[in-house]
Amino acid sequence: MSLPPRRAGFPARLPAQEPQRVERPGTAPRGSPGAPPVPTGSGMDSPAVRCGMVERLRALPGMHPQVLEAMSRVPRHLFLDPGLAAQAYLDNALPIGHGQTISKPSVVARAASVVLQALGERPRKLLEIGTGCGYQAAVLACVSDEVYSVERIRALHELARRNLRSLRLPNLRLLLADGMAGAPVGAPYDALISAAAGEQAPAAWLEQLRPGGVLVAPLGEPQRLTAMRKLNAGRFESWVVEQARFVPLKSGIL
Ligand code: SAH
Repeated sequence: MSLPPRRAGFPARLPAQEPQRVERPGTAPRGSPGAPPVPTGSGMDSPAVRCGMVERLRALPGMHPQVLEAMSRVPRHLFLDPGLAAQAYLDNALPIGHGQTISKPSVVARAASVVLQALGERPRKLLEIGTGCGYQAAVLACVSDEVYSVERIRALHELARRNLRSLRLPNLRLLLADGMAGAPVGAPYDALISAAAGEQAPAAWLEQLRPGGVLVAPLGEPQRLTAMRKLNAGRFESWVVEQARFVPLKSGIL
């Protein structure tokens, strides 16, 4: 599954069709010679299964059509352990190892939809905090010109790299780093989405947003998915999107 060469301002697009070769996660790095194929007949490699998920998401208020289109093309089952792949298109958070979870599809759709709606256009540069298995990063790479995604757990950073290899998303950069410091390498960003929850947004995130930029993150106790827009003179407006239950934002690299 490869994307056409990137042109400035041209949306990254995964082809509507499935990849020619689908490999089983966890057994060998994807794209490595000799990696075994997923058994045929699992049904998970059918675009129709993803379409069912997307139609259920479409029924929720406020979902952005470009985000839904991206989610109809990114194969979520490829980001999961084969034992969990049958649940890939239900609206579930599922374990990805190291005490972490893949976000629910509705949460991925919600965060990305809020960003696209609040910006009023496709982000040129977006920062994701918490790559995990890489699923949300792949969706974000389809709706943004350029995505930086930071993960603090080396094993997950490497898992995401393997999971994403066959999707060939040249506009997605994975970084192993403590996302509490944002990612200065790509700053300033039009948008920042965090998949991990903190008491408040770290100062670096706010600094690395451009004026007019939008941040969506689970914040506070109890957690609320919160959106913030950077105004001029370092001021912010913020609003609550919905109640949330995310894994915690932690410091340091493991
Ligand atoms: N984006 C993932 C969700 C991963 S869960 C998806 O597609 O579903 C949240 C991730 O945030 C975990 O992998 C966790 O290790 C990571 N995380 C927590 N604190 C972090 C930090 N300070 N910097 C980078 N990643 C962090």
